[in-house]
Formats: sequence, structure tokens, C-alpha cells
Amino acid sequence: MRKTNRMIRAIALTIALGWTTEMYGWGRTGHDAVAYIAECNLSPKAKKRVERYLGHSIVYYASWMDEYRRSPGYAHTTHWHMAPVDEDLYYTEQVRSSKGDAVGELENAIAALRDYRHADDSTVAANLRYIIHLVGDMHCPAHVAFPDTELWYEVTFNDKKRGYHSVWDSGIIEAQHKWHYTEWQQQLDRCTKKQKREIMAGTPRDWFHQTAVDCRDIYEMAPEGAALGRDFLNEAAPRAERQILKAGYRLAKVLNELFG
Ligand SMILES: [Zn+2]
Repeated sequence: MRKTNRMIRAIALTIALGWTTEMYGWGRTGHDAVAYIAECNLSPKAKKRVERYLGHSIVYYASWMDEYRRSPGYAHTTHWHMAPVDEDLYYTEQVRSSKGDAVGELENAIAALRDYRHADDSTVAANLRYIIHLVGDMHCPAHVAFPDTELWYEVTFNDKKRGYHSVWDSGIIEAQHKWHYTEWQQQLDRCTKKQKREIMAGTPRDWFHQTAVDCRDIYEMAPEGAALGRDFLNEAAPRAERQILKAGYRLAKVLNELFG
């Protein structure tokens, strides 16, 4: 019981301290790369149906949720870009945020599209825009809210002070490669069919657990005030790339299952 209370307090603290301040997810390049990797792995049928509802490609809307999070009618989505895990690194009903979070809202959007043929076009388009973005956000290393972990602090990166959260969202991928989103796909999307199947296996909750396990140590990699240089970048960049690739394949899987 005390363990649960401690966990709830830690999550409440996370929300109070910074959940709303700066949690945009992958910068534009990262979100575009995720969506384009997904687009290249959509079935022709799914691609055609999704684009009919969106009026554009999925890349076009990759960062839409970040752009509209403070716009009239979408303020309720502002908390949806991160998600919590429990002490065992699982997303469960007990830790689910009452204000919405990336995993819960992704599940809601998928559920809303299961019977998309009977939903009105604007509902389908809105839920598609949520899915495209949230699969990306839930793979951002800094978007896992770990209990009893301080998530919001500054480090020195490339000789400039900045939030460690934003280093993972955009700093690492922009420092390591000067790639256009199409080049991100060209360079990363090289898995075999078997490897893709393995990455796509499971549910959003399984994927988020895996993200939490793989990214648990990022706060040990760089404590508050650390000066992060080439050694950090060499270790962090392949991990960020791996997260982007996984998000792309898994986004394709979600859309292929719904619309394929
Ligand atoms: Zn976001």
C-alpha cells in the first residue's frame, strides 16, 4: 500500500513539476521520420484509405498534435504526449493519468477507428492524427514518466544549457545527422521481414514497457548539470534512432490492421 502511495505521489509530482512545460516529443524531423518509415511500410490499401480521410499523407500530420495542443478545441490534448509507468515499468490502469496520456489516448483512438466505416469523416481524421503522433511520442525516451525519478532538469549540450528532455526529443538526432526525413527512412528502414515482424509484435502497452526498459537508464547517463559531449552522443544516437525505427514500424502495423 505504501509502495502504491509513493508511486502516486511521484506521478503527481511529475505532473505538477513539469509535465506540461516542455514535452513535445520528437522534433519535427523525428516525427516526420517516424511517419515516413510507417508510410513506406503501409499496405497499398491502407495508404489509400488513410489518405482519403486525411486529404494528405501521414507525414503531413506527423506533428499536428504539437501544433494544435494549445488551440481552441484541443487544449484537452495537451497532457497526452507522455505516459507514466509503475515501479515494474508497466503502463497500467493504476498509473493511467486522468488528464490523458500517450498510451491511453492511443488506445482510445485505435478503439474509435475499429469501426471507422460507421464513423463520420472528421472523427476518423482526428483519431488518425492522434495515432500518427502518439505512436511517435510513446517511443521518445524522455516521454516515459518513471516513478521516483526527476525528469526535468538542465544539462549542457553542445556547449549550451538546455533541458535534458529536449536533448532526447530533438538535440541528439539533429546533432548526429543532417538528414531529411526521407533520408532517415532510407538509412534506418532496412530490417528483414522477420525483424519487422518481431518489432511489430505486441500491443501499445507492450511497446511502452519495452521503451521504459530500454530507456530506464537515460537519467543515469546524464545527471543534472552534466556537460554532454561526443561520448554521450555516440551512445545516445543509436538508441534514439532505434526508437524512431520501432515507432515507424509499429505505426504502420496499427494503420495496416485498421485500414489494410
Ligand atoms: Zn508530442
